[in-house]
Parts: sequence; C-alpha cells; structure tokens
Amino acid sequence: MPLAERLAHVQCAIADHPPQCLLAASKHVTAETLRGAYALGLRHFGENYLQEALDKQTALRDLDGVVWHFIGRIQRNKTAALARHFDWVESVDRPLIAERLHAARAGMVAPLNVLIEVAISGEGSKGGCAPEEVPVLALAISRLSHLRLRGLMALVHPQPERAGADFRRMAELFLTLQQTQVHADLDTLSMGTSADYLQALQLGATEIRLGTILFGTRTQESL
Ligand SMILES: *Cc1c(COP(=O)(O)O)cnc(C)c1O
Repeated sequence: MPLAERLAHVQCAIADHPPQCLLAASKHVTAETLRGAYALGLRHFGENYLQEALDKQTALRDLDGVVWHFIGRIQRNKTAALARHFDWVESVDRPLIAERLHAARAGMVAPLNVLIEVAISGEGSKGGCAPEEVPVLALAISRLSHLRLRGLMALVHPQPERAGADFRRMAELFLTLQQTQVHADLDTLSMGTSADYLQALQLGATEIRLGTILFGTRTQESL
C-alpha cells in the first residue's frame, strides 16, 4: 500500500483524538521515502541511529521545517552530535547524558527539547530510567539552561493487556511532574506505536511514534 493511503488511514483513525505531534519513526526508511512523507505533510521525523540520521539530514537539507527527534539509545560519545543535529532528544535517561547534551548545545540559538525516557514496562533490555527516578532527573534537567524539558517518553509492554496499565502509569507520572515542576513547559507525553497508538491517545498521549503502520516492515538492509 502506498504511503499516502497508509497515512490517510491513520489520520482517519485519529480524527477524534488528534495528537499534538504525529512522529514518523523513520529508522531504516530511505531519505527518498521521507521526502515523500514530507510532501504528504509530515514534519516530525524520529531517528534511532545517529549516522543514519545524519545522512538523511544531509540528503533532505533543502526541506524547510523538518523537526528531527532522536528516539534511540544514547551512547555518551554521541551526545555532542545529538545536541547539535537534533531539535528533540526523547531518550534522556540519566543525569550524565543530560549534562553532556547541555554542554554541547551551548552556543546554539534554541535550547534542545528533551524528554525523559521511562522504563515503564520493566523490561530490562530497553532504555529508560526507573519511574521513581523521574523527579530527581527532571529537577536536574530543569537546571540546565540549554535544555528544555518537555515531558516523558516510553515504550510500553508489547502485550496489549499489559500496555494499558503502562499507559495509565505514564499518564500519572506525567501529571505528577506537571504539578511539581510548575515552571517547566511540560506539554509532551510521547507514547504509543503502530500496535497501540489509539489506546495511547485515549489514555493521554500527546505524541505518537509510528513506524511500521506508515512505512511497512523494513530492516537495516532497506537503506
Ligand atoms: C521503531 C520505534 C517506534 C515505532 O515503532 P512501530 O512499531 O514501527 O510503529 C517507536 N518508538 C521507538 C523508540 C522506536 O524505536
């Protein structure tokens, strides 16, 4: 199915609950495909791998208004490039990473938008901080002037019957953060993927990150 049809299907499904941000999770999608996505009106692209993202950014530098989000695991030696080449980093999960992003963002006009990634499903293989670490990390980030804390991000449990509980806990964490960090611009709860974006929206997501449902399945070799 062409991308235009896939996107129309999603837009129809979310018409009652449109998110602030529909992010195209574009790992292993070619720059050419993203150019097509841009032509269909998508502006937010989420990448997981730094070098792959930089290559696409170079190929698409003629397009105005693309907003690049980093949603992958962060290695400390990549923080400088992430701070310089992205508008958002959604996977901040420890103070050291926040401090390094802050230092590398100095000298750029706009602060870097960041989300704290929370390991809400308790599956150890995924990134993210523990839910109880969120308040301390949020406070640390709020003191870093080159970062702008915008909210929380999570990947929930793949089993639908457990995903709902994870979404609810994320919504609670987000609300608590908004009530305690009153000076921050906390407007973003990024959760929900192709498998569960409707449920995520019903339970409070303001941003959904869609890959497979827009682009089909792809592997690294698709590039
Ligand atoms: C790949 C990815 C997505 C999109 O997942 P799909 O199931 O392809 O929609 C969302 N979030 C993160 C962090 C991802 O790595």
